[in-house]
Amino acid sequence: MGAPAVALVSIGDELLNGTSVNTNAAWLGRILASEGARVTRSVTVGDDPAGIVKAVQREAAESDAVICTGGLGPTEDDRTRNALARVVGRELRQDDSVVAWLRRRFESRGREMPASNLRQALFPEGAVVLANRLGSAPGFLAEGDDAVVVALPGPPAEMRAMSEEALLPLLRDRWAGRLAPVAHRVLRTTGVAESELADRLEEFGVQQGVALAYLPSTRGVDLHLRATDEPALEETAARVSAAVGENVYAEGGSDLVEVVAMALRERGWRLATAESCTGGLLAQRITAFAGSSDYFLGGLIAYSNEAKTALADVPAGVLEAHGAVSAEVAEALASGARARFGAEAGVGITGVAGPGGGTRDKPVGTVYVAARTPEADGVRVLRLVGDRAAIRERAAQAALDLLRRML
Ligand code: ATP
Ligand code: MG
Repeated sequence: MGAPAVALVSIGDELLNGTSVNTNAAWLGRILASEGARVTRSVTVGDDPAGIVKAVQREAAESDAVICTGGLGPTEDDRTRNALARVVGRELRQDDSVVAWLRRRFESRGREMPASNLRQALFPEGAVVLANRLGSAPGFLAEGDDAVVVALPGPPAEMRAMSEEALLPLLRDRWAGRLAPVAHRVLRTTGVAESELADRLEEFGVQQGVALAYLPSTRGVDLHLRATDEPALEETAARVSAAVGENVYAEGGSDLVEVVAMALRERGWRLATAESCTGGLLAQRITAFAGSSDYFLGGLIAYSNEAKTALADVPAGVLEAHGAVSAEVAEALASGARARFGAEAGVGITGVAGPGGGTRDKPVGTVYVAARTPEADGVRVLRLVGDRAAIRERAAQAALDLLRRML
């Protein structure tokens, strides 16, 4: 029999015309894969009854389950329940206990239930009702000839709670013995290109039965390893980590900020920043984490030459001799931040984010990052690629990474 095959059908005009992004399919895909089901296809259809029926029928023919999201609301444009009743060949019947629950739900808010909400108590005959703890539209699970068909609400929080609390327990029972849970490890790397990683890892060879995926972003490349065989996964993860070496900054989902924060807290050191081309992006990333006040004292945005001198004590002579985009200025920014805030650790960033401002010697994407601690000084020149936003993101990440390596 093998792992059960699941198709996802996302319903809603707003998903097709770009008003909403389909996060439900991504979330369900991840959860179902980790449960050990195979998600074989994901399709999106508009709020058109005939289109919904056709899509669900087509997917049901090739799957064990079709999970639909959206279109369960009380309004005319929400048509999932009728469409699914047609697919499974059952009439819609009112569920009195759901009517009573809906009335109580409105009463507890001091309101009378609008008649249109009665629609939400209609289910295909014989369907199992899935409780909605966060909203007024219950979902359901109905048996079709080809596949079991499931309706979940569109709002992501409702969809997630209903899946975890009502749907997954039913599917685990139903598919007992067929699910092959997939274990998953993430190794986060930075400062190394995807192609270079691929070259390094080729020699080692990923063990059979372990799938390796490269997920690049402006923060670096995340290596995702998946396998049903946990020991094989662990062994591969250890070998991959050894092969990649220093470029691995976290095993798991941690942000680089959290890794640096832990190292600073261990030493009891505090941090200050002085940023030019990133305009505060690094300070923003650091302070996005609760508890950053433990170690982060503050940051300067020293954009103009005058500000670099006035705020971060970058000597005018250094600016003159080397230019604002230089190793010397990055180092002076790191030292200046450290001194002005009285921090043990300082970071400085200066560069050309583009699209204008590049020269032959210092083209767009040239960024200098510097860090200074009581034990070490470091400075790096980077040749970053991408548009302005990407270069700024990469510069902030590289500055954090320099500090991580020094800690
Ligand atoms: P409601 O009772 O709120 O009407 P519903 O089941 O009818 O619930 P929809 O009306 O289709 O759901 O969608 C409600 C909200 O959920 C909308 O804001 C919509 O953008 C969002 N939504 C629907 N489907 C998805 C999806 N696949 N991914 C992310 N958001 C979604
Ligand atoms: Mg809708």
